[in-house]
Amino acid sequence: MKALRIADFGLRIELRRLKSAIRNPKSAILAIGVIVPATMPAQQWPQHSMDRPRPPVVDPGPERPPVPAPKDAVVLFDGANLSEWRTDDGSPAKWTVRDGYVEVKPGTGTMVSARSFGDVQLHIEWATPSEVKGEGQERGNSGVFLMGIYELQVLDSYRNDTYPDGQAGAIYGQNPPLVNAVRGPGQWQTYDIIFHRPRFKADGSVERPARMTVLLNGVLIQDNFELVGPTANRQQPPYRMHADKLPLKLQDHGNPTRFRSIWVRNLE
Ligand code: MG
Repeated sequence: MKALRIADFGLRIELRRLKSAIRNPKSAILAIGVIVPATMPAQQWPQHSMDRPRPPVVDPGPERPPVPAPKDAVVLFDGANLSEWRTDDGSPAKWTVRDGYVEVKPGTGTMVSARSFGDVQLHIEWATPSEVKGEGQERGNSGVFLMGIYELQVLDSYRNDTYPDGQAGAIYGQNPPLVNAVRGPGQWQTYDIIFHRPRFKADGSVERPARMTVLLNGVLIQDNFELVGPTANRQQPPYRMHADKLPLKLQDHGNPTRFRSIWVRNLE
């Protein structure tokens, strides 16, 4: 009863505000601002939901030449060789280098950076195959795994429908991009990523989740998103304590997607 009475009291205040808003239009915005959050809780979507609204399409403009690394950056790939990269078992990286880019060689596995990183600003450019094959998740799929654990999806999302939390620019399985700012297949695209690693307490519990801000082709698509844990397909595993610095990984998903101009600025 007490709760009901409090709710009733709250409603009466809102009605009073609405009446005054009708008399005084300036207070209308305030009245609406108070009512809407109380009656419209944020909508939650199941992981990989196909019912989730698609992010609006934004044309980012024409492709550009490779962005050169700033002087304080660690250059991980400048088009020449894979000296900064390994495979998962530590042997030399096996992807194909040609004409200033590196292309996924399907079946050879993940490419792993020789160095480890924590908080970073990462620039990486990618192009999905110009010859369009497959649909949904099978078209130009790769991924940028921060710390080898947290995936920013790479996919041909140009007129290629899939679940929004799995399209290009999604934090895979967790958060769709704010907008779909991809260029067409075969065209070069840029990711500029600001990543803050999770902080763990001594007992292994999370003190602060990982956060990611991303620009795709200069357009903001992830705005300081707090990750709920490692990214995964059809599951949302909880955080597990890990080292402060870990290698970056690029995904072999069986599609010959290309990368170029990869550089990192350490933020810690
Ligand atoms: Mg992927």
